Amino acid sequence: MKRFILIISSIFFFFSPLSIFAQQEIPILVYHSIAEYTGQGSKELFVTPKNFEEQIDYLRKSGFTPLTFEQWQNIHQVNKPIFITFDDGYKNNLNALQIFEKLQTSNFKPVGTIFVISDFINRPNRLSNDDLRAMVNSGLFSIQSHTATHPDLTKITDYVYELKGSRDKISQITGQPVIALSYPYGNFNDKVVDETKKYYTFGLTTTPAKYSEEGIENEPLLLPRIYIKHSTSLDEFAKIVEGD
Ligand SMILES: [Zn+2]
Repeated sequence: MKRFILIISSIFFFFSPLSIFAQQEIPILVYHSIAEYTGQGSKELFVTPKNFEEQIDYLRKSGFTPLTFEQWQNIHQVNKPIFITFDDGYKNNLNALQIFEKLQTSNFKPVGTIFVISDFINRPNRLSNDDLRAMVNSGLFSIQSHTATHPDLTKITDYVYELKGSRDKISQITGQPVIALSYPYGNFNDKVVDETKKYYTFGLTTTPAKYSEEGIENEPLLLPRIYIKHSTSLDEFAKIVEGD
């Protein structure tokens, strides 16, 4: 009889509302270059425009809702939330703008977040002031900070320049608030998080996982991200965004 009760109660546990409200897992993707690989730099940091378009089209067909960090409070309200981010502010991210514009429909708005290195803006292979403004004006991009000079934040002392300085400079260019920082090389420690918290609401790591709320201290400053690579196939992409 005891055994029977145990079986029945475990069945009830499985189908209880608890499992219905199981932690939602949100993918936060990280890209770098959206371009053909031409032999310069690390190949895995390039996703071809064709692959990128197929990936975003997959999100469109599968009912995902891309969000930017300004919309964080919507994560529990929308269907299949996802964040699409780009590190380093490469000029070729203009290809992502074109693809987003192409795939936008009345019920799918592809939006992304570009983390720019503020001292690198206007360099030949990086986005310019005008590019950044055009991206913001499209309504499809949020421009956020990847520091001023891309240092390893665990090894520096001038946090004001890297964190506040880059925030203020980017905000001045775009006319929009800068509320999120992506840590160069994904490197952070307690000191870095404490400094980041003074100027930003969100901090993006490269811890390879989906986000699910765990209630840990400083959780919004420790957001994980999944790296989409040159070699990521569409099947792998689907597995990454849909869950295991
Ligand atoms: Zn970087």
